[in-house]
Amino acid sequence: MPQATQTKSSTAAALKELKCRECGATYELKATHVCEYCFGPLEVAYDYEALRRTVTRETIQAGPNSIWRYRPFLPVTTDNLIDVGTGMTPLVKSHRLARRLGLNQLFIKNDAVNMPTLSFKDRVVSVALTRARELGFSTVSCASTGNLANSTAAIAAHAGLDCCVFIPSDLESGKVIGTLVYGPTLMAVKGNYDQVNRLCSEVANTHGWGFVNINLRPYYSEGSKTLGYEVVEQLGWQLPDHIVAPLASGSLFTKIYKGFQEFVKVGLVDEKAVRFSGAQAEGCSPIAQAFRDGRDFISPVKPSTIAKSIAIGNPADGVYALDIARKTNGNIESVTDAEIVEGMKLLAETEGIFTETAGGTTVAVLKKLVEAGKIDPDETTVVYITGNGLKTQEAIQGYIGEPLTIEPSLDSFERALERAQTLDRLEWQQVLV
Ligand SMILES: *Cc1c(COP(=O)(O)O)cnc(C)c1O
Repeated sequence: MPQATQTKSSTAAALKELKCRECGATYELKATHVCEYCFGPLEVAYDYEALRRTVTRETIQAGPNSIWRYRPFLPVTTDNLIDVGTGMTPLVKSHRLARRLGLNQLFIKNDAVNMPTLSFKDRVVSVALTRARELGFSTVSCASTGNLANSTAAIAAHAGLDCCVFIPSDLESGKVIGTLVYGPTLMAVKGNYDQVNRLCSEVANTHGWGFVNINLRPYYSEGSKTLGYEVVEQLGWQLPDHIVAPLASGSLFTKIYKGFQEFVKVGLVDEKAVRFSGAQAEGCSPIAQAFRDGRDFISPVKPSTIAKSIAIGNPADGVYALDIARKTNGNIESVTDAEIVEGMKLLAETEGIFTETAGGTTVAVLKKLVEAGKIDPDETTVVYITGNGLKTQEAIQGYIGEPLTIEPSLDSFERALERAQTLDRLEWQQVLV
């Protein structure tokens, strides 16, 4: 059979069914996310033999410069893809941050510049809304900690879908404005994310909407696998030795793992042990606490941290994330809000990347793990930066100095410069003594 025809037909055939992660019961590929028998989460299953026969490095490289180059591994059958340029964000070799931390092979996966709304959530939403349209939904929705609201509203606008999103009412203004501008109905709920999520589960049952992270969750979460695929491709078709990524529900973390495994399974990359380390904010660290205590269950917490985008007190995929960190010889660590601010500044000052609080958390955990000797300097380490700092400016206001306000004259400028340099010298002297 000619290669092109075969690719097309077996690609659709590679998408098999929904399968319960706990008991293995299988379901048709509909808008459902919980097993009727054991209440376990459902996951999309593929025919990897079909994928092995039809997908090569070349077929991927011939695809679009977006997540859709990995389409055979994504849970859609339509040709009517929503492609707003999501994915294929830079993998940057770190020099200055690496030297500061004492690492020799550090890479930064920079989803702070993902399209269209500057966070990794554009990946999961592009997939979820493509699938939602395919399943016939005309209204899409989500329970969000901020970035998901931005992404769902923007991509729904692009696709011409009606949109109603739910957020906790205390989010950063960048997240609120960055949602409203796309014209959705925005519900700001007086409560934390876990309460928003509970409310949304009820709405999903009564309104027949496509909630990207509830009834469409099995499809949505598959979008995160592209963060694994891209790193493999950008490293020259190799797996890294160690990854460090933030944990909210834990979904992203587990899907990077699934992505790596799938590429090994279908023969796109050689097998290698990859260590998985996760990052949480101290003020919402149920997974890190379970890891530290050696527990295999999560005790829900009430979030209180500046890292609002990852503040999920009852993480749906927490136990799976725990399991992956343990069996890969990784770690799950947490850092304080002060360390998160320092992490944001450190990444900005050494690499020119302005990340939000979630990225500050991840960088701070990376630093902590290196200092504790838990990352080998020669390991090829990838740190995932998942969001953009322009959206959480409140978090660092007051910690980054002030502009020097001057008169429009050379004299005023010279005096200000002199003062700035004196201050700089004083700071250096303090560092030296
Ligand atoms: C949502 C989010 C995460 C983590 O998401 P999971 O629920 O663990 O998949 C990480 N970083 C940012 C910036 C996010 O918005």
